[in-house]
Amino acid sequence: MHCSRCDAPAIVDQPYRGMHLCRAHFLASVEARARSEFHRQLPGFAGRTVAVAVSGGKDSAAALFLAHRYFARRPTVRVRAISVDEGIAGYRSNGLAAAARLAERLGVEHQIVRAEASLGTTTDRAAAELPGVVPCSFCGVWRRQLLNRTAREVGADALVLGFNLDDLAQTTLMNLVHGELDRLVRMAPHRVRQDGLVPRIAPLATVPEREVYLYVRLRELPFDHAECPHAGRASRNLFREIVWQLEEAQPGTRQALLTTRERLVAALLREEPAGAPTRCRACGEPAAGGLCRACEYLRLAVHDSAETAPGVS
Ligand code: SF4
Ligand SMILES: [Zn+2]
Ligand SMILES: [Zn+2]
Repeated sequence: MHCSRCDAPAIVDQPYRGMHLCRAHFLASVEARARSEFHRQLPGFAGRTVAVAVSGGKDSAAALFLAHRYFARRPTVRVRAISVDEGIAGYRSNGLAAAARLAERLGVEHQIVRAEASLGTTTDRAAAELPGVVPCSFCGVWRRQLLNRTAREVGADALVLGFNLDDLAQTTLMNLVHGELDRLVRMAPHRVRQDGLVPRIAPLATVPEREVYLYVRLRELPFDHAECPHAGRASRNLFREIVWQLEEAQPGTRQALLTTRERLVAALLREEPAGAPTRCRACGEPAAGGLCRACEYLRLAVHDSAETAPGVS
């Protein structure tokens, strides 16, 4: 099979747009899609600091590399990397080492925020304390809060996340199926800027997961392949399977889900513009009301009835 753009042999098949691409055209196509998402999600960007959340996995490795490449043409913008160490034995330390290697190779400052020091607990310990709760529920909430807080503290104007097309299609479907329209509105990439929340952007939003994998392999970026030991209990696994089957049967489903989400969010915001978020009464971070979800989970996990969550101020 030849490339749809030149005579070289194709290395990737893109049934969702009827293309086959050679190595050079594939790399260029990922970079062009990321560039176009940076333009689209950060229109008229005049900020000075861009933070990239890096876990050490393939998606965030690609996001950091592409952000560094994109902003290299703008010397007034500083790109920096932030990792969260959730405290997951035998897993996270390898990812953090891979993230550190990539940051060093690119010459990007890399900061690691540890859940133990910032929250007073870890995902492993909370998972043991709360056997009835799927660990991703609190782990994801805590990570988002630590990333937002750290990005805000370093003066970041945007927080780049490694979400790929599959991730965003799965999250859209999950929120639709659960009827959680408010979460659909709050999902990255952000359309509305809210006080205290660093806007999260997703430059890989139109790149499928397997193409992100191929991209990091071809660019020889360091990343960790391991799967989190808690991942087996995530409800996302079911949606990953469903979205995959739908995409196989009807190429273009993932992109259609994202377009549906964008239209729905635009309609919802016309009907009811997003108000300013309230502040959590314990930690002061943005919250939907009363306690933020991070503090709710902390209360459960550390059996702490005090008003102020440990380490969160
Ligand atoms: S898979 Fe779940 S528990 Fe593991 S790091 Fe991700 S969110 Fe945390
Ligand atoms: Zn080609
Ligand atoms: Zn809180």
